[in-house]
Amino acid sequence: MDRKTFLWSSLGLVATRHWSWADDLPKDIKTTRIVGFDLPTVRSKFAGKNAKRDDHGDRASDRMVRLYTNAGIEGLGNCRADEKALALLLEKNPFDYYRSGERRMTGPLGAGTMPLWDLAGKALNKPVYQLLGGAGPERVPVYDGSIYFADLLPQYASRWADRFKEEIDMGLKRGHRAFKVKIGRGNKWMPRTEGDARDVEVLKIIRQHGGPDIVIGADANDGYDLERTKVLLERHNDALNLAWLEEMFPEDVAKYLDLKQFIGTHGWKTLIADGETQSDLEAYAPFIAAKAVDIFQGDMNRFGFEGILAEAEMARAQGLLVAPHNWGSHVGFYMQLHVGRAITNFYRAEHDPLSTDVLVADGYEVKDGTCSVPDAPGFGLRLDEAKFASGVKVRFDLKA
Ligand SMILES: [Mg+2]
Repeated sequence: MDRKTFLWSSLGLVATRHWSWADDLPKDIKTTRIVGFDLPTVRSKFAGKNAKRDDHGDRASDRMVRLYTNAGIEGLGNCRADEKALALLLEKNPFDYYRSGERRMTGPLGAGTMPLWDLAGKALNKPVYQLLGGAGPERVPVYDGSIYFADLLPQYASRWADRFKEEIDMGLKRGHRAFKVKIGRGNKWMPRTEGDARDVEVLKIIRQHGGPDIVIGADANDGYDLERTKVLLERHNDALNLAWLEEMFPEDVAKYLDLKQFIGTHGWKTLIADGETQSDLEAYAPFIAAKAVDIFQGDMNRFGFEGILAEAEMARAQGLLVAPHNWGSHVGFYMQLHVGRAITNFYRAEHDPLSTDVLVADGYEVKDGTCSVPDAPGFGLRLDEAKFASGVKVRFDLKA
């Protein structure tokens, strides 16, 4: 038994359910060629600092893989496995890595199984979310995760209040109704008292501008502590009505239970979200057992489908939610949407407003705060071959 299977079975995560589609996976398919490339993407704006890190800029990229087969179908997806690991797939049946009776791909790709899921969907003529369970809502709730410290960017210093209104308008125009607002200026960029006051000012401008119906979450990237979090809520949450608080301070079961009780006593509905910096499922177990966090935020690409689905199973047993972290990944947005369409305890998909004309994503439409998920086989994503040839750097091209 490998380490992961051992861990998962000890956490009660090895599902006994039989996935009937698995019987129809082709037995005679082989991987004939594997191309690794970086997909460059452009953000709709320059994103500034958060509590922890300096400017985030307006560029990102996804590490991608194309898996060609002798069946004339191709698996496409995010995958951070290296050339050597991928080479092991050549001339093999890619579905040999499907873990029979489970909702899992295993093998040398680590968390980067998206190309295998895409291929499975295409081989079976089904969207991936159906293979993953198809139990979620038809339209998946989403949020705009791009409201950083625009006030600290020199280009907006003289008119930062207006800049926040513009950024909210940009999100609304894109179909968003929920926004994550970065706070924690007093962690390292401003004197603490001034920074905390600016955080409140920004949140108030956004609440007033967006009106009572928009959903606002605040993300401190660990730049607050328990006491300052309580001060923020006590003084302002009646006006701000924050839907969730994210990474207010480093994860701590006792402190989060204290905060939760504080929130409950005041009758607020504010949820506690955390967990994006973790890389092991075990780290979530004590927070799930104590119900110290409401929304678990394992990173979509670091955990992959298998990890996020396992995290969701653990959370679901306690009536808790998941909302994967996904800043800086364009393709990760589509990954999350298939998870959201597959499970019943998905909170919201994080949208970093990135785009590229190399990847065509028909059928994904953000509207009124939710996104549609196409019924096309696999993920329904395809490459514009002309733009791929001119706009993408191929990292390796392995042939059988
Ligand atoms: Mg965060």
